[in-house]
Amino acid sequence: IGERLYLGMDFGTSGARYALIDKQGTIHSEGKREYPVLMNDEKMDWVRSWRAALFSLLEDIPIHLRPLVASISIDGTSATTLIVDSNTGEPLWRPFLYNESCPDALPTVKSVAPANHTVCSGSSTLCKLVSWWNIEGSNKKSALLLHQADWLLWLLHGKLGVSDYNNALKVGYDPASGFLSIMAATQFGFQEDCIVCAGTTDSIAAFLAARATQPGKAVTSLGSTLAIKLLSTTRIDDARFGVYSHRLDDKWLVGGASNTGGAVLKQFFTDEQLQKLSEQINPMEASPLDYYPLKAVGERFPVADPNLVPRLHPRPESDVEYLHGILESIAHIEAKAYNLLKVLGATQVEEVLTAGGGAKNEKWTKIRERVLGLPVSRAKQTEAAYGAALLALKGAPHDS
Ligand code: ADP
Repeated sequence: IGERLYLGMDFGTSGARYALIDKQGTIHSEGKREYPVLMNDEKMDWVRSWRAALFSLLEDIPIHLRPLVASISIDGTSATTLIVDSNTGEPLWRPFLYNESCPDALPTVKSVAPANHTVCSGSSTLCKLVSWWNIEGSNKKSALLLHQADWLLWLLHGKLGVSDYNNALKVGYDPASGFLSIMAATQFGFQEDCIVCAGTTDSIAAFLAARATQPGKAVTSLGSTLAIKLLSTTRIDDARFGVYSHRLDDKWLVGGASNTGGAVLKQFFTDEQLQKLSEQINPMEASPLDYYPLKAVGERFPVADPNLVPRLHPRPESDVEYLHGILESIAHIEAKAYNLLKVLGATQVEEVLTAGGGAKNEKWTKIRERVLGLPVSRAKQTEAAYGAALLALKGAPHDS
């Protein structure tokens, strides 16, 4: 047997991917599958679709590499919930998707949860569980709750009742205690000693991919919205700003998401225009324009104000100047966001890695370095599947 490899799989919102890496983090193989459209009673049958995507991805892995796989980990979308029969693993109900809301469960959940706890949101896993519990005739005796990642991993290791502390956060698990479990598996021509590790959520996996492993390192995601995540030695939670902490080993991953971001840029400019106009920006010069770029009214982080009105005027004649003003204004929101985390008690940020569509904009990176007063660079890896592979590497026996 040659050098051992580590398999990560990402079940994100739009499709599933895999990445197969070695100990150094070099990718040996990767691939992507859409979720096949499989219907049941005119509704999407997600259980069959996810299972099909999982097995298709495993078959996509080159046969000669499969025996080299030492360990596997999977991330799924946070708060995607399955309720299965605890004897057979068969779903008792259709899955609750990550973005589904069950406001009917809120009164019950709020009566038992600490004030402002992350479970007190209609889309939390706990609300989904309570909502299902209240359905008449639901088979409560033999029911078992699984997160999407737990269920996918169960398809590989066959043992029910295993989860991880990132997925469990939204069911009300206190991440200050608990441990990860590791299960053995053999399938698809993998070796008998290949282990299946616990999984995580898709956004945690994306953070892991950037390899920001020291406290003070952060990842800003510049996609349709702006999300920041900072590795901290202290835990902070503040529901007003949608800020909460995920456990990562002995540290905390704190973060929040603003409604500003690339979606606003997209309203005014195509990707090609963004590239061309950006080339003409002098990033060392501060733009005098002061905007609050939003697509719609309302902001949560770093300002909790549901009535905050987008500010994108006055618009100068020059598109270069306009774009400069918007990019600079988003950078100010980013700076405010990191500052808020600090005020709330998180470890001070020292370096910012960048993911998402905005990460490739070098002028914006320079603007952000000036405004944040911090080193900013593009993360080498940003795929969640790569982060899941790093998790598999971490969970693998050290001598393999
Ligand atoms: P999503 O959050 O939808 O996955 P992506 O990470 O794919 O988003 O990023 C898409 C966003 O990146 C778009 O909103 C687009 O406006 C923005 N974008 C694309 N090219 C550039 C660029 N050169 N500079 C800044 N932003 C860009």
